[in-house]
Amino acid sequence: MKKRIFLASPHMSEEEYEKKYVKEAFDTNWIAPLGENVNKFEEELAEYVGAKHAAALSAGTAAIHMAMKALNVKQGDIVFVSSLTFSATVNPVIYENATPVFIDSEEETWNMDPIALEKAFEKYPNPKAVIVVHLYGTPAKIDEIVKICKEHNVPLVEDAAESLGSTYKGKQTGTFGKYGIYSFNGNKIITTSGGGMLVSDDEERIQKVRFWATQARDKARHYQHSEIGYNYRMSNICAGIGRGQLKVLDDRIQKKTEIYNRYKEAFKDIAEIKMQPIPENTVPNHWLSAFVLDENSKVKPNEIMDALDKENIESRPVWKPMNLQPVFEKCDFISICNEEKSVGQKLFENGICLPSDTKMTEEEQKVVINIIRELFK
Ligand SMILES: *Cc1c(COP(=O)(O)O)cnc(C)c1O
Repeated sequence: MKKRIFLASPHMSEEEYEKKYVKEAFDTNWIAPLGENVNKFEEELAEYVGAKHAAALSAGTAAIHMAMKALNVKQGDIVFVSSLTFSATVNPVIYENATPVFIDSEEETWNMDPIALEKAFEKYPNPKAVIVVHLYGTPAKIDEIVKICKEHNVPLVEDAAESLGSTYKGKQTGTFGKYGIYSFNGNKIITTSGGGMLVSDDEERIQKVRFWATQARDKARHYQHSEIGYNYRMSNICAGIGRGQLKVLDDRIQKKTEIYNRYKEAFKDIAEIKMQPIPENTVPNHWLSAFVLDENSKVKPNEIMDALDKENIESRPVWKPMNLQPVFEKCDFISICNEEKSVGQKLFENGICLPSDTKMTEEEQKVVINIIRELFK
């Protein structure tokens, strides 16, 4: 069996920074739960992205859930959510018994279409929150989206799980709204083996989230509870890995960018292939390189994925939009597309995520490229 080439997999630093922080935790027997690494990881991440406060949590999903709690999202509330995303973006809306309304993508960034968002406000004037996703590390049209949210006085939550380190007009994704969330799951640009972070400039809310995330224990010697809590805190070990990984985030972004640029160059003469665009004013982290095939392309996404799979190379379709998921079939979906298929559906049906692993060598990427190019001959 050939060596597997991954979409994206954990990549510890050559300098072994992660081991140093984890060892410190071991040496002091401070394995769990909280401790120096957790506090420092919060500080260091907040500083990196330019947020005032951060809460380290057990997963990105937990961070989105805590954002919903912090915004007092509850039964009867409507939350606007990017449709083209991973289910973890929307599940926390359901955990709080609120109702998601999905917003279609636009073609320039593949993210939430501001015009469709505006249209959603016509139908539902008072949503409790908007959750926008920066897909595969490419920033959404955030100026427009922030402006619309401000006009309607609705808080914005950025699901920046995939876009840590991406910037829009020089500002980090995750810092434009009331809350931003990041994920350190194993496949993300940096990992803690599993974990997440909630950032905000609102110190009181972040402290409240830390309280909820440690079982909502009131200040008392005995175990006293006035609220429902969660076991959502990041462990001191995971935070140690995170601190080490944060040191190589910029290297990872550089590598991911080189991978994207090589694909772009290699496919530029194939008219049917269109890479996920780099929108104006943005510097994406290029977590995953993805392209969309022309609808009339004679080569279909499945043929490409099958050909790669035969050589033990991982690739994936673009996320299946939430409005097409059986579990969300009763939810409303807002699009400005008059055609039979929404923008998100077309991206799903014709899109592919390419191997974007930072451990992939240039030679290995050439193999991937050649397999794909062969199909278009
Ligand atoms: C990975 C991911 C999440 C969830 O993060 P976890 O840390 O795995 O819980 C949420 N949203 C998007 C868009 C993601 O890609």
